[in-house]
Amino acid sequence: MICHKIQEIEQKLARACERAGRKREEVLLLGASKYANAEKIREAYQCGVRVFGESRAQDFLKKFEQLKDLPIDWHFIGNLQTNKVKYIIDKVSLIHSLDRQSLAEEIQKRAERLGKVQDVLIEVNVGKEETKGGVYEEDLEKLFEYCLSLKNLRVLGLMAIPPYKENPEEARPYFAKLRKLKERLEDLYKVKLPHLSMGMSEDFEVAVEEGATIVRIGSAIFS
Ligand SMILES: *Cc1c(COP(=O)(O)O)cnc(C)c1O
Repeated sequence: MICHKIQEIEQKLARACERAGRKREEVLLLGASKYANAEKIREAYQCGVRVFGESRAQDFLKKFEQLKDLPIDWHFIGNLQTNKVKYIIDKVSLIHSLDRQSLAEEIQKRAERLGKVQDVLIEVNVGKEETKGGVYEEDLEKLFEYCLSLKNLRVLGLMAIPPYKENPEEARPYFAKLRKLKERLEDLYKVKLPHLSMGMSEDFEVAVEEGATIVRIGSAIFS
């Protein structure tokens, strides 16, 4: 069942890449597994998904233990409380949700202790929704500049969760906006930011057309 769903997603991804003149390998399919138990994640792994993103530290730690026998590449994609950083930092390759200076500071401190450089994405609140995490567009440069000063933290790009809309086409301007913000940072600071984490079950094809390099797909795989 899960394999069938993943195959369908793969076909849609392939077609979206083709429409956009991009290669399928340019887009990483991340299984957003917050609603899946370890068993379901194992099944998705066996169907070819290698990267999973968890949203809550407590749930993640439990599943991490249960799936220790698999070489899963774990990302953290949810709002991250500063006091949870120490539990996850040795277990994740990429944190998608850096959105404030205090969190960057804590990641720096913990990464330094581990002798690790932690890869992160800065989450942008593109719809200025109070209920969501993410830095506002006008505060992005300041946070990015601060991150540049931290030796054990490396910003690889941007992430966003646009406001929910019935029609996935309505998410397109937000995806385009995130891409432009990334390009602006690249121009301003003369850096290369390889990643745009955007697109979920309902709108990942539009996100790929607008340049997503990581799509985070939950319900289309697991429900
Ligand atoms: C749950 C979640 C997703 C996946 O959402 P679906 O609509 O179920 O695909 C993607 N990104 C984040 C940050 C999430 O929390």
